[in-house]
Amino acid sequence: MPFQPLPQDQPICTVECPACGHRWLVYEQQLGLLGSCPACGAARPRSMGGVAPDSGRQVSFGSFRDLLDEPRLLTLIEETLGLRPLDGARFVDAQGREVPLEDIHFTLQGNAEWQAQVYNFYMNHVR
Ligand SMILES: [Zn+2]
Repeated sequence: MPFQPLPQDQPICTVECPACGHRWLVYEQQLGLLGSCPACGAARPRSMGGVAPDSGRQVSFGSFRDLLDEPRLLTLIEETLGLRPLDGARFVDAQGREVPLEDIHFTLQGNAEWQAQVYNFYMNHVR
């Protein structure tokens, strides 16, 4: 049976593919269930540990995606990561290459200050 996260669960564990270096976030409960790398399909990813542990301010990828109509989030992504929004849910780098939302979410969640800002947007957004 596929893993079903509870509403309070957040994907806080970083995994990295030893073959291609692709990184992404998983739920802690998924660590033992990891299959092949979504980027290259090859090696078995290894856990890099949690992201900004114990801050209690993680915002899940789904919530992050729902926040993309928040102008302050778009500004944060532009200013911190140097990415330009194309439309609602797509971003490109300075060379015009599209950057996966998962990578943006991962990068923001890996920095305590940015993570706190995203969390604040999230808390203001849902109320
Ligand atoms: Zn890989």
